[in-house]
Amino acid sequence: MLGLMQNQALSISSLIEFAARHHGEGEIVSRRVEGDIHRYTYIEAAQRSRQLAGALDALGLQMGQRVASIAWNGYRHMEMYFGVSGSGRVLHTINPRMHPEQIAWVMHHAQDQVVCFDMTFLPIVKAIHSKCPSVKHWVALCDADKLPADAGLPGLLSYEALLAQHAMAYAWPELDENTASSMCYTSGTTGNPKAALYSHRSTVLHAYAAALPDVMCLSARDSILPVVPMFHVNAWGIPYSAALTGAKLVFPGPGMDGKSIYELIEQERVTYAAGVPTIWQMLLGHMEPNGLRFSTLKRTVIGGSACPPAMITAFNDKYGVEVLHAWGMTEMSPLGTLCTLKNKHLGLSEGDKMKVRLKQGRAIFGVDMKIVNAEGKELPWDGKTYGDLLVKGSWVLREYFQGEGDAVPVLPLVDGWFPTGDVATIDADGYMQITDRSKDVIKSGGEWISSIDIENIAVAHPAVAMAACIGMKHPKWDERPIVAVVKKPGAEVSREALLQFYQGKAAKWQIPDDVVFLDTIPMGATGKMQKSKLREILKDYQLPDLR
Ligand code: ADP
Repeated sequence: MLGLMQNQALSISSLIEFAARHHGEGEIVSRRVEGDIHRYTYIEAAQRSRQLAGALDALGLQMGQRVASIAWNGYRHMEMYFGVSGSGRVLHTINPRMHPEQIAWVMHHAQDQVVCFDMTFLPIVKAIHSKCPSVKHWVALCDADKLPADAGLPGLLSYEALLAQHAMAYAWPELDENTASSMCYTSGTTGNPKAALYSHRSTVLHAYAAALPDVMCLSARDSILPVVPMFHVNAWGIPYSAALTGAKLVFPGPGMDGKSIYELIEQERVTYAAGVPTIWQMLLGHMEPNGLRFSTLKRTVIGGSACPPAMITAFNDKYGVEVLHAWGMTEMSPLGTLCTLKNKHLGLSEGDKMKVRLKQGRAIFGVDMKIVNAEGKELPWDGKTYGDLLVKGSWVLREYFQGEGDAVPVLPLVDGWFPTGDVATIDADGYMQITDRSKDVIKSGGEWISSIDIENIAVAHPAVAMAACIGMKHPKWDERPIVAVVKKPGAEVSREALLQFYQGKAAKWQIPDDVVFLDTIPMGATGKMQKSKLREILKDYQLPDLR
């Protein structure tokens, strides 16, 4: 027997229409490429999303065709989130930090028909446009009078001129909720990038889940600053969850440095911010020497790579900001787990609470997870046994997008579970902790050493800005860890002092054999340390006992 409730398909257009109708005066504030601050309401965001949808119809785009964005976090990008997907096309967000050749590759693979870009990225577009035959229209996200005369792009359109030709009224198509809505390529550290293709259903369910109290805890009373980019994994779904809750949105545009972020937080009374650890490092690096405080910021969600304990402590103890440690990946839309305490933890000492907060957290309803050994056998949830982390759920990828030139689909699932490539423990309370990417785990004398643990200890040293731990081949132990360190500006620490710092904080056999001081650690397009590049840089390195 079927239930007798209305069967309304989950749709992305309904999110922005809801926000316009029920939170019409809710603000969306953007720092623009043009240099000024732009502000408007959800009503205007919805009107302009509809105008964009009309423009895409007029350009002759078919349902399911791809419209790419190369853009910072801002209101026009937000309109693309709703206008492109809502009208039945697929928004392909492109990470401008990828190499231009790789950008051209993903555009060809996705067969993008239209590309909308911020003027900042004109040099990239100029460099690649001749290699992108699928693209029929290049659209600059600017006013008509800001279009450069010498762009060298035939038929370059202005986004504002395009919108101005279309009505604010538009009848959104009724789409099957499993219709594709947006896509994002993983950074492709091995082989070519692969794309996750999200649907209206997966996106709306993810938006509901993200807003829950024990997840991001978003409400109409929040002012949210997503520093996490809209060009990678939909800014962790925040634009959708903000529309769903009616929260104010504050977009940083190209101003990603500590000073610009701090000023925006204060000016726009931001209560909630989201980003990767490197961004928060820049923010704290600006605040500390200038003696600054937050007046409104209450919570920050940190993920994308492991959040060092020193950062959680700084936010919590010094600035009174609660850190929510989150884990996820492109293939998971991206949220998988988020770390909030349970009732039983509230009476714990600060030190013991910290041990919980450091973990990547509990599964969100809609995602299930397990750890398995090399034979695929499920391992116990004891907080000690580590294994390969597998997930499944309503917003977890089933297969990768089969693009131009792919002979067969890539089907990653193992018995219905997606292998994350992460190695983790899960404790009896269901808190998952990542020990490593499986390719970064250091195997020494038959035991595994977590590179994340070794890095966390190094960055707790006051002179250390960044640390990356990698394994070096060793004839007796298989591998031994070394730690590459970038010092804070003007700070000093010797190799010996840093190795001494590890005493008592890690088991003797886990302590790195050496410290290598570097000016920078190579970072990938999604703000993660690129250990493969680091290994290349250190290819002639010899461990001390082998010299
Ligand atoms: P990419 O863009 O490189 O494909 P994603 O942005 O999808 O990668 O990142 C997914 C990976 O990032 C995870 O599999 C995990 O290794 C890492 N990651 C994400 N969040 C965390 C976290 N809180 N702690 C440790 N690692 C994390």
